[in-house]
Amino acid sequence: MRYHPDVWQSGHPVAEKNLSLRLAVLAALLWTVVLGISLAWNFTNIEQQGMAMAYAEARANLNKDITFRRWGTLHGGVYVPITETQLSIPWLSHVPGRDVTTTDGRQLTLLNPASMLRQMMDLYAEDYGIRGRITGLRYLNPGNAPDAWEKTQLEAFERGEKKEVWEVGNVDGKPNLRYLRAMMMEPGCDKCHGILGYKTGDMRGATGLNLPLAPYLAQMGESRRLLGTSHLVIWLIGLVGIAWGGWLGRRWHVERHAARAELLRHRDELESTVATRTHELSLAKEAAESANRAKSAFLANMSHEVRTPMNAIIGLTSILARNNVDPIQRDNLARISQAAGHLLNLLGDVLDLSKIEADRLEMEVLPFRMGGIFGNIESLMAERVQARGLALRREIEPRLLDLPLLGDSLRIQQILLNLVSNAVKFTEQGVVTIRAAIREESAADVLIAIEVADTGVGIAPDALSRIFEPFEQADSSTTRQHGGTGLGLAICRRLVQAMGGDIAAQSVVGQGSCFALTLRLAKDDQVQATTDLSAKLSGIETENALRARHGNARLLLVEDDEINRIVALELLHETLGLPVDVAENGAQAVEMAGRTDYALILMDVQMPVMDGLKATRAIRALPGRERTPILAMTANAFQEDRKACMDAGMDDFVAKPVNPDILFSVLLGWLDRR
Ligand code: ADP
Repeated sequence: MRYHPDVWQSGHPVAEKNLSLRLAVLAALLWTVVLGISLAWNFTNIEQQGMAMAYAEARANLNKDITFRRWGTLHGGVYVPITETQLSIPWLSHVPGRDVTTTDGRQLTLLNPASMLRQMMDLYAEDYGIRGRITGLRYLNPGNAPDAWEKTQLEAFERGEKKEVWEVGNVDGKPNLRYLRAMMMEPGCDKCHGILGYKTGDMRGATGLNLPLAPYLAQMGESRRLLGTSHLVIWLIGLVGIAWGGWLGRRWHVERHAARAELLRHRDELESTVATRTHELSLAKEAAESANRAKSAFLANMSHEVRTPMNAIIGLTSILARNNVDPIQRDNLARISQAAGHLLNLLGDVLDLSKIEADRLEMEVLPFRMGGIFGNIESLMAERVQARGLALRREIEPRLLDLPLLGDSLRIQQILLNLVSNAVKFTEQGVVTIRAAIREESAADVLIAIEVADTGVGIAPDALSRIFEPFEQADSSTTRQHGGTGLGLAICRRLVQAMGGDIAAQSVVGQGSCFALTLRLAKDDQVQATTDLSAKLSGIETENALRARHGNARLLLVEDDEINRIVALELLHETLGLPVDVAENGAQAVEMAGRTDYALILMDVQMPVMDGLKATRAIRALPGRERTPILAMTANAFQEDRKACMDAGMDDFVAKPVNPDILFSVLLGWLDRR
């Protein structure tokens, strides 16, 4: 199980589920409380409204009663016929004219307003259930005696505390709204009530009524039931909604978690696939690299193995040519030399290309000036240009010649030499022109544009697109006619690209070709004297200078191969006349160098017993041998071989097969320096 930080950061699935559950419970509680409050508020409202209606009815009733009674008072009571049920009222016996006889002989008796009202109230109570009340603390009609509640209220009225009172109370065990209003003595009342001692304006009693609340209470109960039911339904719907929401939330969390888990699983899978692929790739890369290393090692060995016999061939041929006076034999020797040279070039090109292909091409970064390169090319090509009756022209921006630059001057020379020698090779008559100018310049670097133009055979358009590919030649008869490998331009292009430039060609068949390239080179701000040992003096001049200046310099030649020894001795001793001691391996060399202080040591690298690198280190450790020039002579052609020699303490490097002119020039340089 992998650690997935984002799962824990954004919440564990179980915690998320619990959270949605808790939220749902909270919402349900809140919903219940809200509905509870609503229910309570509505119940209170119902009661208040019901009671307000009861009060309204009670008040309307009482208002009418009082008005009837006042009407009676205004008329001093009413006369009604005396019947069996309506006799003369006994407590009005003190009122004069209580009983009268009409002119037509009918017997009438006086009904005081209270009695009249009482009769109406009885009728009304019988018909409608609302019982009107007339009462007082002192009363004429005993039926008007107050009950306990009425008595309390009447006393309060008498004390002037209030004028009316409402109350819900039980009458005959049933709930009633009881209403009582104080009644004042008015003019007209004393006719009947004066006997009780009341005067106008006195509180004489109260009028009121008992309103049965049963119908109101039933109505309220019904409203409450309806409201309760509707609230219950709404509450349940809400709960279902909340539960559904909670369930949805939970499901959403679960799904989200599942989706995330799925995503993480994919990621894990992807990562493991990538890891597997990466591992496979790195294995494949390792295999390819080891194959490449094997190829490079093979190339290095092959080049070493081919160069060693080539050293014998070239060396011995040049020795023979020097000592031979027979012109035919000299001619043949020159041809052998040419063929060997061609073979060596091919070897060099193949090696270059494979180095480029294996990305092992290393560019030197050393100070140089373009002037030196152009000078070298001229002197190296002079003989061939002359032999073909051509002219070599230079059109070079003067400032470029002397501009201190940093780069791999040997590689630049190799490129230009290739282009110029192609131009010379494919031109029968006319001119080969080298043009060069600074195209861009900054504080740090320059972009140089160089053109090599000729007036030769030209290149057909279809061939023009192929000539920068390895082993491509414009025309298959080229090799027969002019020699060449078809590798030169391919190498040129890679080298130019490695120097941050590009190369292209234009050509018109029969009129000539123009190869144009650019190179980006760093400027050298620490201007220093560039050591250019090669091609300053001609071969003969170098030999003469060696003989004249260093004829007695004793050299040590360290070489295990017999033929190589013969060739080297021939060049050093027979040709130059220098005294030379020979060691056949590194161990011998160390011993001899310990005894004799040699002017210079030429050291082979691959040898039995002790190799050249070890021997050099041992010699450097000897007292007084720290500065003896030690020059490597080896067929190992790679840059790292050269670096290994320098790291071991050697001073310079002469490649095998040894070119006598180069060997002499390097020797002169080091002996002069000593
Ligand atoms: P090589 O010269 O060794 O054959 P290169 O790669 O240098 O190989 O050149 C490839 C081919 O391009 C040559 O064989 C030739 O056909 C053509 N070529 C190169 N330079 C010129 C030139 N200046 N004029 C005519 N043809 C050329």
